[in-house]
Amino acid sequence: MSDPLGGVAELRGALDDRRVSAVELVRAACARARALDLNAFTHLREEAALAEAEDSDARRARGEARSPLEGIPVALKDNVCQAGEPAQCASRILEGWKSPYDATAVARLRAAGAIVVGRTNMDEFAMGSSTENSVHGPARNPWDPECAPGGSSGGSAVAVAAGVVPAALGSDTGGSIRQPASFCGVVGMKPTYGRVSRYGLVAFASSLDQIGPFARTVEDATLVLEAIAGHDPCDATSIPEPAPALAGALSGDVSGLVIGLPREYFASDGADPEVLAAVRTAVAELEQAGAKTREVSLPHTPYAVATYYLVATAEASSNLARYDGVRYGRRAERVGDLLDMYRRTRSEGFGAEVKRRILLGTYVLSAGYYDAYYRKAQQVRTLLRRDFEEAFAACDVIATPTAPETAFRLGERAADPLRMYLSDVFTVSAPLAGIPALSVPCGFVDGLPVGLQLMGRALDEASLLRVADAYQRRSDWHERRPPEAA
Ligand code: GLN
Repeated sequence: MSDPLGGVAELRGALDDRRVSAVELVRAACARARALDLNAFTHLREEAALAEAEDSDARRARGEARSPLEGIPVALKDNVCQAGEPAQCASRILEGWKSPYDATAVARLRAAGAIVVGRTNMDEFAMGSSTENSVHGPARNPWDPECAPGGSSGGSAVAVAAGVVPAALGSDTGGSIRQPASFCGVVGMKPTYGRVSRYGLVAFASSLDQIGPFARTVEDATLVLEAIAGHDPCDATSIPEPAPALAGALSGDVSGLVIGLPREYFASDGADPEVLAAVRTAVAELEQAGAKTREVSLPHTPYAVATYYLVATAEASSNLARYDGVRYGRRAERVGDLLDMYRRTRSEGFGAEVKRRILLGTYVLSAGYYDAYYRKAQQVRTLLRRDFEEAFAACDVIATPTAPETAFRLGERAADPLRMYLSDVFTVSAPLAGIPALSVPCGFVDGLPVGLQLMGRALDEASLLRVADAYQRRSDWHERRPPEAA
């Protein structure tokens, strides 16, 4: 099996010194993706990537590297579109469909010189927390292949954790970048809503969805975020601000910065005590580095999961109406009239979890129930946002566990949707409030990684990255390699 690929800085040094070429990196990444038995990739575009790598090597030889990402292989979650490539979203209904254009984030990543080697496994339409709701079968956690990698961006987390690529894109609606990052022991960030364009991201819940990076280090995640962030006229919800310069935030200095610890997230009945202990130890390490801590309260936290599953399913039921067998992908065969064609296409094309969400979402939006469910959820969403505004009057960033536990076993929750939804308790609030949040590795429990979640003020990705980077300078969790990928 080919060796794991290093991080961006290391690969960049090797490329600059001509110790390796982009062509060799693409070959190595594809060989490794094929050799590992983790079902992380759904599609490799080796030939096209090799042609791009040749071009990249030629640029570098002319002294025209476009950015630190020049020639670096990356992977995309299968709901982030690239022109001419499939974007199946792990669904039968999008079998055979190819995207006619690049997502803005992908166009920017490619313009920066990164080379997309392939597409990663996920929960169907990003609905799930384990990457088990996939037409391709589940992805596996490299720390224990009997465990789930988390989801829905499980394949991207695995690809990075297993050293196939140094960085990948995922999408986060209620935790789908942060929770798999936590389960796989890598860094994952959900930017502020509107920071990264959603143009070309297959919509799940449009008021929550954000694209963000996975990497093994905060430094590498920052490089990717800098490349993909910034205003885009193709997404009306993208924030009309220039892409932030973030590298300067990685100074290692957190002195005087105030870290808020929300009481509700540290309640002993809410999370595995060993996970809480690892998170507390990480916070103590940051105090050693000069940060201050104080308890804060986010009193509406107990309503977050219910609110999320009303808002997200309502938006999903509307967004997924477009898969009608006419416009995209698969159409049922031997159908009667038009209605029969719709019905059979959707019955055959969607998996059980997606159907459950469409049903739930349609129900909460229906005339008799709109006020009781959807409107109420929107009101609670406002209260959750205010909780954060008040907390951020007293602190700069908020630290919590990313997930209440480490990776659970494959199959363990597949038949119990409510239990599955509860693995999102700590991650759904940030997207509901629109604020940025990331997960950084902070320890292990029984050989499985634990993630520290940091949440920040809207548009203040810089503070999150500063704190997470300061932590990585003082810890070596991110340097450990999973047994399945040694
Ligand atoms: N696990 C959550 C869900 O199933 C979050 C998914 C996501 O962020 N895309 O909806």
